[in-house]
Amino acid sequence: MDIEKEYDLSLLHNDTLGFVLKEMGERLEHAQEEGFCLCQDCVLDAIALAMNMLKPYYHASLLGNMYANAALENTYAREVKIAVQEALQKVKNNPSHD
Ligand SMILES: [Zn+2]
Repeated sequence: MDIEKEYDLSLLHNDTLGFVLKEMGERLEHAQEEGFCLCQDCVLDAIALAMNMLKPYYHASLLGNMYANAALENTYAREVKIAVQEALQKVKNNPSHD
């Protein structure tokens, strides 16, 4: 069976991506003055690295939120912040281009 033909997989969402993109967007506003490259390759590398450091939070509909609990959400926001910072630093130290 071809799952991708039978089911609408666009309903699968990983909330981690939204958190990472939001945090990355805020960090990138100051990233250039800190020496980070803002090209497509470096930014997408950093997003991928950060995503791989974090636990995914998939859900299968538009409804539902990863956390009903604000304290847990704060903890997770801190983890996202650290992952994004580490990912940016790694890409800066080892960019995929010269
Ligand atoms: Zn670059």
